[in-house]
Amino acid sequence: MINPAELELLRNALAKLAEGYEHLPDFTPDFDADAASEVLQTVASRMQDNYPYYHPQYAGQMLKPPHAVARIAYAMSLWVNPNNHALDGGKASSALEKECIVDLGRMYGWDSPLGHLTGGGTMANLEALWVAGRLRPGKRVIASKQAHYTHSRISEVLGLPFSPVPVGHDGRMDLAEIEKLLMAGDVGTIVATIGNTGLGAVDRLPEILELAAKYDARIHADAAYGGYFGLANELRDETRAAFDNLVNVDSIVVDPHKHGLQPYGCGCVLFRNADDGRFYKHDSPFTSFSSAELHLGEISLECSRPGAAAVALWATQQLFPLEKGGQLSKWLDRGLLAARDFRERLDASKNFQPLMSPELDIVCYALTADTARNSSAKARRVFELAAQKELHLAMIELPVDLVRTYAPGLEADAETITCLRSVLMKPEHKDWLPQIMAILEECASA
Ligand SMILES: *Cc1c(COP(=O)(O)O)cnc(C)c1O
Repeated sequence: MINPAELELLRNALAKLAEGYEHLPDFTPDFDADAASEVLQTVASRMQDNYPYYHPQYAGQMLKPPHAVARIAYAMSLWVNPNNHALDGGKASSALEKECIVDLGRMYGWDSPLGHLTGGGTMANLEALWVAGRLRPGKRVIASKQAHYTHSRISEVLGLPFSPVPVGHDGRMDLAEIEKLLMAGDVGTIVATIGNTGLGAVDRLPEILELAAKYDARIHADAAYGGYFGLANELRDETRAAFDNLVNVDSIVVDPHKHGLQPYGCGCVLFRNADDGRFYKHDSPFTSFSSAELHLGEISLECSRPGAAAVALWATQQLFPLEKGGQLSKWLDRGLLAARDFRERLDASKNFQPLMSPELDIVCYALTADTARNSSAKARRVFELAAQKELHLAMIELPVDLVRTYAPGLEADAETITCLRSVLMKPEHKDWLPQIMAILEECASA
């Protein structure tokens, strides 16, 4: 689990950091190492009570281990503990954050977006919808029924009316249903989910852009999960078209703490038109800004923000630039291929019925059964048996009609069916599919 070279790299990075402060009078804070050691042993024991998220046999939720360079850079920066709210709290890390934003913007074809890091995708979406609401006061927000639940909740917080859009059997928003809502005339913002959390389906952005233009709506792209996949080579053509069109949306959310190899606490919001930032204007009596330069605190709803998150992201983007054909895109391709391979293996098994062919690296599958209820019961049992064998999966509750598209023999004796879901986001997942499949078969036959 732990590579000793990492600790050596941290030690060396800290030594380099300390060189910058050598001229100061020497000063060592009090520290009782023995007392701390005891607590640390205890907390390490407590931490053993976690699923092994970093391991390839964790094939459940969206959990990808942060890269070593991100962990080390993050830890190193804690000895300074910068705050990216204002330049006097996080001078160096604010500069790094701005450089990260430039690179993330370029990934979407934007040369000078306004943007910043956030605590995560939820905060980032809140800011995007807040700005959308300021630009289209009182107007409706619409988003996929398979969109993250955060959009309806955020709309509630912002006092904006919200409508969910039904999805087709492929998990993407139904275009006719979008148009029906637009025709009512009160829609201000369409949220297009670029990789929804449950199914990994990517909304049809080219067609949604046309509808938005026809009815004068804004488009916010929630690419919290899928935001990096534009770098991949193995996307299906239709999915590719959505990514190629991100350049035309009004705002984008991407979570570096999902596919960007970062520890939690790293989301990002970007606005194509930098002028949208005017709504953030505030007069803070506390932070006497020491320069005329843009403070990230002036374009963020959050006040204190960890500079460490920017330091980690910057280090990672240096090592793995956001380029097509680079290491990052190869890893994303492995996930795409793993998901396709996994779906084929499930399809070949008499125990499982995979659903839609995956657009990204998420695979959903039902258990073969005569009725919806029996299928759900089997899925829950396989979930538990697999966990006992250290194969960790996720479950998803899906409408019976959607599942019956793929398993027409299932009798619909319930509204929804519990299915299994695996997010294959680690580069190692592809090579582990035979083991994963063997455990699944064993559990399904038990
Ligand atoms: C994860 C996710 C979110 C929420 O982001 P957090 O970082 O968990 O706050 C929003 N939208 C989508 C599509 C997501 O996958």
